[in-house]
Amino acid sequence: MMDITILGSAASSPTPARSLPSIACRMDGDVLLLDCGEGTQRQMMRMGVSYSKVQAILISHLHLDHYLGVFGLLETLRLNGRTAPLPLFGPAGSSRVFARSKLLDIHELEPSAAKLKKPIFSLNEHDVYAFPVEHGTGGDSFGFSIIERDRRRFHEQKAHAAGLRGPMFSEIQKTGKLKVGAKTIKLDDISYLQAGKKLVYSGDTIHCKTLVKAASAADLLIHDSTFDESQRELADEKSHATAADAARAAKEAGAKQLLLFHISGRYHDAAPLLEEAKKTFPNTLAAEDGMKITL
Ligand SMILES: [Zn+2]
Repeated sequence: MMDITILGSAASSPTPARSLPSIACRMDGDVLLLDCGEGTQRQMMRMGVSYSKVQAILISHLHLDHYLGVFGLLETLRLNGRTAPLPLFGPAGSSRVFARSKLLDIHELEPSAAKLKKPIFSLNEHDVYAFPVEHGTGGDSFGFSIIERDRRRFHEQKAHAAGLRGPMFSEIQKTGKLKVGAKTIKLDDISYLQAGKKLVYSGDTIHCKTLVKAASAADLLIHDSTFDESQRELADEKSHATAADAARAAKEAGAKQLLLFHISGRYHDAAPLLEEAKKTFPNTLAAEDGMKITL
């Protein structure tokens, strides 16, 4: 299970209603931060996300609006007595940008598909993957997916009727079958695999194939939606997606739900973005600071 809290949903500069980009993803009590824009620590405080539960920070790219909050958050952790370095994953150049921090364990991501096939980080039965996206020049940009592993669930009545007790449950999970009295019980007859959930975050990007592939069958796709189609030239110039682009990506990926994110300050009301996206992908929401979604 993942509990997602939108800490900041703005693009580039904050507005009274929107803080700079950051998403907290809570899994079994522990937290991953997807980007950490300026003001993130205060948003965490306001929205009940504990600093001490953060296990890693994932930075999509090295534009100021996505990482300035790291410094303040780390200083607060230091003042609260933290000495253990916190893992931070980001593009090449992250070591230089965060060089002054002794409280970070920095991992620079390489945009090679082969290297990114393996998880970059794992936490509480969830694996985190990075994938390259396209956000113009000025350095590498990544998106991230967090995938919960499938879990074995028992049909309790069937298992008990078959005579399974106590340690037999872990035994049969290891062996796939177990002799109980005169009968051999098969694991698949008394249990099933519950599919894990999948969250995909695009970071800042234009519509791109790597993202569509990574977001395949995602339960939730959080996608750059800086502009609407009336600002197409600006979107192209700044290498950002429109709401229509985000909707197309969600549809092509076969995602279950889309959340429009990284919303330009020109939209005091996200209704036009939502309306545009829903024409292509009806199950769409527009991010608001403080919004919570459980997968
Ligand atoms: Zn941005």
